[in-house]
Amino acid sequence: MDFERALVVFAHPDDAEFLCGGTIARWTEAGTEVDYVCATDGSAGWNGPDLGREEIAAVRADELRAAADVLGVKEVRFLGFVDGTLQPDLELRKAVTREVRRVRPDVIVAPDPSLLWSGRSYINHPDHRAVGEAVLAVVACDAPTRPQFPELLEEGFEPFTVPALWLSTEHREADTKVDIGSTIERKIEALEAHTTQIANMGDFDVDARIREWAAAIAESEDMEYAEAFRTFLLED
Ligand SMILES: [Zn+2]
Repeated sequence: MDFERALVVFAHPDDAEFLCGGTIARWTEAGTEVDYVCATDGSAGWNGPDLGREEIAAVRADELRAAADVLGVKEVRFLGFVDGTLQPDLELRKAVTREVRRVRPDVIVAPDPSLLWSGRSYINHPDHRAVGEAVLAVVACDAPTRPQFPELLEEGFEPFTVPALWLSTEHREADTKVDIGSTIERKIEALEAHTTQIANMGDFDVDARIREWAAAIAESEDMEYAEAFRTFLLED
């Protein structure tokens, strides 16, 4: 898994750290250049009456930049879609295609769009599914296809075939587990940069829960902590 350049595409400012923060830290430590694309503005990430969407978005953008710094991420781009309204439509697909053709990564990491729920206490956010579905369409169709989105050609973005796609997923669907024993502290530190989200979670003990989840994924492997992916290798 030696990648020169990775693009992580996700819906909300804290998603990448939750899904694959340990893997990102391992990659950047190994010299991989990692960029983020955050599809929404994160403006629904606070339920208090004290902040409006614009203020929430501004705070969360700062939190994401801080988290990205912890993990060694090079660049953070926001597509600016409104949090809570994301659709895997042509507008989102075009915006993601632009970033894919700009960065031309060796691997894209995105959430698994087939994940509706996990266990009995988590129903997946529709924005997570939407961005995952859009990424599948971009990888399979939009980024490599010249006649798709001709306006991107006019902007100078030539077609590009993504060599690999890693979907962050439930461990029962995974074919690849990344050992994050050496980077779990950085993953937790990056998550703690999302101060508003930590506040939202009330009694949620980030350190303990992240270790618990990563240990469950690592179970049956020769690892203490892991993150899980379903991976695809795509021919040019
Ligand atoms: Zn999210």
